[in-house]
Amino acid sequence: MQFCRCAQYSSTAVVTLVLTVNDARTIILATAKFLDKSETVFLLESRGRILAQDVIAAVNVPPYDNSAMDGYALRAADCAAGLSIPVAGIIYAGAMPELLQPGTAQRIFTGAPIPQGADAVVIQEDVTQKDVAVDSKAIVINVGVIVKTCENIRRVGEDIAVGDVLFAAGHRLRAQDIGLLASIGINKVCVTAPLRVGLLCTGDELLEPGDAPQAGKIYNSNRYLLSALLRELGCDVVDAGIVNDNLAATETALRDLSLLCDVIISTGGVSVGDADYVKQAVLAQGKLDVWKIAVKPGKPLAFGSVGDVSFFGLPGNPVSAFVTFQLFVRPFLQTLQGAAVRDFQQVPARAGFAWPHAGKREEYLRVTLRQEGNVLMAHALPNQGSGVLSSVCRADALLRVPVGATFSAGDGVDCLLL
Ligand code: AMP
Ligand code: MG
Repeated sequence: MQFCRCAQYSSTAVVTLVLTVNDARTIILATAKFLDKSETVFLLESRGRILAQDVIAAVNVPPYDNSAMDGYALRAADCAAGLSIPVAGIIYAGAMPELLQPGTAQRIFTGAPIPQGADAVVIQEDVTQKDVAVDSKAIVINVGVIVKTCENIRRVGEDIAVGDVLFAAGHRLRAQDIGLLASIGINKVCVTAPLRVGLLCTGDELLEPGDAPQAGKIYNSNRYLLSALLRELGCDVVDAGIVNDNLAATETALRDLSLLCDVIISTGGVSVGDADYVKQAVLAQGKLDVWKIAVKPGKPLAFGSVGDVSFFGLPGNPVSAFVTFQLFVRPFLQTLQGAAVRDFQQVPARAGFAWPHAGKREEYLRVTLRQEGNVLMAHALPNQGSGVLSSVCRADALLRVPVGATFSAGDGVDCLLL
């Protein structure tokens, strides 16, 4: 993903400076260091985990030449048209075959080992079976069928050869990767230990889902949103729940989390309102930069540390929390995990609407994507408010509008697939 550069940034981040998204990311990622802690887990439990070591194959896959089809193993040179070829044996998957005598065939099934002496498998649909005697069969290759050497044989090591580096350290295991590791006989893998990420949501107005609605209160969506995002990244969440808007409670929650966690994330309470205690509470036991970042949605983002533990103070509005998590927190956590930083997949699309007024902030509009003829069109959802979380759920992508950009309907735009 490309982000705008900002000419006005100097290497010391100060509160008054407005940072571009790119510069804020650069500063944040410069402080992110791989936390080199690993553990061994069973392969069945390894989905989403990050390899702490390269995986090198100690066996071939397939481990032996085997048949790709149900048919007859034979020598291609023996397959003259009209010739009757005696069937001298039968090989099921899992069995060990006899040597193939020249001029004979052996019945073979998919996955069964190719007998020594055979160099092709002719599929059963391409032969006609004949009963030569009771318990004695032969086949004739059908007219027009040409049997080629190596046909329908899966060669030893054609998928994986001994010594192949299957995955490098830092790779996040997906279902297909786990299948491949199983195919080389591995049942345990060495992965990075999960990051422990502390989460606190500030706000006297917050209720937990499941509580009865109350006047003046809203449900705490950030806790669930961020917990899910963190779990998707394979982090263990240390959840401090709701913290009331007061200094002592915020300080206590931060201190408790700093004893248990590798990173702390808070939401809300980070602007300049009378009920915003996060900055003060962090400064009492650590250090803090609070930046104005030229991003929308997004408010001031706090970044610093509580004791030795890295700290992110995200905005309270859920869409702002979502976008700033994706832009800044996710790459930070991936770096700590020793994983490759993976941003959203960027796809080119055409705007289904005009953007006539250049903005001072990089905007992330929630859009739906629709194929119209051979063009992928991006349509903005009607309410782009930073508290309108339904816009994130209904969106297929975030349309990134660079600082100062304008466009007309039909112009090319960059969309980040959600
Ligand atoms: P704040 O940054 O604390 O001023 O919060 C900004 C807005 O986000 C306010 O409207 C809050 O009610 C809302 N908000 C803060 N925290 C949460 C949360 N955990 N879940 C949902 N909305 C929140
Ligand atoms: Mg608040």
